[in-house]
Amino acid sequence: MNDEKHKPEEHEDVGLYQKMADRAAELMQEGRKTLDEALKKASEEISSGGEYTREKSEKIGEFLRRDLTEVGKKAQEARDTVINAVEPHRVAAGVQSGLSRLLKTAADTLNELAGKSEQALEYKTGEVTSPGTLTCRDCGKEMHFKATVRIPPCPSCHKTVFRKSY
Ligand SMILES: [Zn+2]
Repeated sequence: MNDEKHKPEEHEDVGLYQKMADRAAELMQEGRKTLDEALKKASEEISSGGEYTREKSEKIGEFLRRDLTEVGKKAQEARDTVINAVEPHRVAAGVQSGLSRLLKTAADTLNELAGKSEQALEYKTGEVTSPGTLTCRDCGKEMHFKATVRIPPCPSCHKTVFRKSY
């Protein structure tokens, strides 16, 4: 992926996703919040900051929650793989991403989140998601992402619905 081709709104969405993951991880690590509360509070804080609308914060918050839910459905060993795969450039630089901190801190609550949704979740073009593999539901084409992205259309058939794996 070439960053310079990304549109401003895409940058904004991805930046907001990362900011929210960082803030929710901080709130969890302070130890006074459940995962649900931390996600809600992070979203509220960000929208009351005025830089982003409430609607946008809530939308991005749902994308973050969905990624956490998907990871929650995996066995512990698979989760570790995901955690290690999340934003490798930041890990290499000695900075642990908000998302991987969230995944570690919230390991227990991930089981609860996962229990609430048995079905594989759908990911659509224009939504934001953490690193991983998206498989086109129509033609089976795989896209591999090493950083948080706003999802493009399928490069092969131009459809817009995907399954996610890691
Ligand atoms: Zn396709």
